[in-house]
Amino acid sequence: MSHDQDRRVEVAGVEVSMCHYVDGERVDSPTTFETRSPNDWDTVLGEVARGDDEIASLAMAAATAAADDWADRGPAGRAEVLHRLADVIDDHVEPIAQVEATDMAFNLQSMRARLVHRGAENFRNYADLARDHVEREWDSKGTHNRVIRMPAGPAVVITPWNAPWMLSTWKVAPALAAGNPVVLKPAEWSPLTASLLGDLADEAGVPPGVLNIVQGIGEEVGAALVADRRARRISFTGSPEAGRLIGRAAAENLVPFTAEMGGKGPLLVFADADLDAAAKKAAWQYDDSGQVCLAGTRLLVDESVVDEFLERFHAHVDDLVLGPSTDPDTDICPMVHPDHVARVLGFVERARDNGDEILRGGGRADLGPLYVEPTLVRPRDNQSEVVQREVFGPVLTIQTFADEAEAIALANSTEYGLSAIVYTGSQERAVRVGEGVRAGTVWVNTFLVRDLTAPFGGCRISGIGREGGDFALEFHADLKTLQILDGSTG
Ligand code: NAD
Repeated sequence: MSHDQDRRVEVAGVEVSMCHYVDGERVDSPTTFETRSPNDWDTVLGEVARGDDEIASLAMAAATAAADDWADRGPAGRAEVLHRLADVIDDHVEPIAQVEATDMAFNLQSMRARLVHRGAENFRNYADLARDHVEREWDSKGTHNRVIRMPAGPAVVITPWNAPWMLSTWKVAPALAAGNPVVLKPAEWSPLTASLLGDLADEAGVPPGVLNIVQGIGEEVGAALVADRRARRISFTGSPEAGRLIGRAAAENLVPFTAEMGGKGPLLVFADADLDAAAKKAAWQYDDSGQVCLAGTRLLVDESVVDEFLERFHAHVDDLVLGPSTDPDTDICPMVHPDHVARVLGFVERARDNGDEILRGGGRADLGPLYVEPTLVRPRDNQSEVVQREVFGPVLTIQTFADEAEAIALANSTEYGLSAIVYTGSQERAVRVGEGVRAGTVWVNTFLVRDLTAPFGGCRISGIGREGGDFALEFHADLKTLQILDGSTG
């Protein structure tokens, strides 16, 4: 391991460090892993440092050493730094967008228009919320009571590959605003925008050790980080399978843990809905090749309108353009990795074997090995694997219901409960169905509109705990009740 020996590679015209970022310095590892662009799988973008137990320990030591000073700055002092970071991010829209579009094949237009700024907003929003927080104070039983948020200490933040920039900033921001130094480990299939975050933090004057970024494989450096006894919080987004392992490590050290995990969201369409709007939104669930945890992948449609719905749905899907993430005409980008394509096509094969009906797609598109056709499956019954398990690709299912009760029962019939989408023209139904569906977020006649102060998370195997607004800030704090006996002090 060598300190301050940076290795940089040009990715989409941007110099990106392939090294870890620890204590404000770039640190390399003796071994590496490859990162490639889904837009051009034959070319290796770079050899990224492959962290191990040693680098995990170094990063945890840096975060631990930085903890007191960062806590002592208080919410207002930290907010100043985090606002500077947000401003620096807003000044670097193009390089961040280009690197994400190349490394992960995230749609370049979406990155430019919305998601880079959303990263900046994550820092501003949490900084302001923490700074403007009003402590709860009250008198009872002859004492004056005050609830104080104490920074908990170093936080380990682990993110998935599907929206690396957005999710890294979304998860790092509340920890930093709450006063906890962070060790961030991004996913090995899309590590590069997290690396840029180290440069941006440096430019913004984030003190050394407050934000550390460790690259590597989940089972290696990820496992070492979550097992480290210096971690006082673990914040994870990824699959339920990895969530279970990380939860065990957290339990071993008695460390609070939040997990944002998979989804199998229903998209319910009632007969009184604007059918064309519903069909268009359903078609757009293929966005990002379906690699979206919140996607409404189970289309549940009133049987009286299913034929008309399907006609409109197919027309909207026909309009979607598959192509490289950097092409301005592209709607659906390539999938992230050949292993993931194989996993997704495995679901389709097993659906065929099960007697499920493939209504459209079902194979690779002829653009290249990482493109999968938008696929629609009518399952034999509700127990089909393709209905019950998260596919995380461009594969939707369609089922019908006879009435509202059946619609809600089908919506709630999987182990997941992250999100749901409802299309209806009736206010009463919107409220009834919204209340009846078990999910962390239910959108009615819209999708992905997010208020960053609202709680965000999942029920059942979709999540433990909530992020968003004060919910994330409280997770990252140790709450203390200070009670002073009335009249006992001057
Ligand atoms: P994953 O669980 O395989 O990996 C997620 C992260 O965990 C990666 O950084 C990985 O390296 C790390 N990891 C894996 N095993 C680990 C271990 N034993 N110890 C420590 N770290 C470990 O998930 P993925 O394939 O990267 O992402 C896809 C999944 O993420 C899907 O299930 C998707 O629904 C979910 N997701 C959920 C949300 C949400 O907000 N609920 C958002 C995005 C993605």
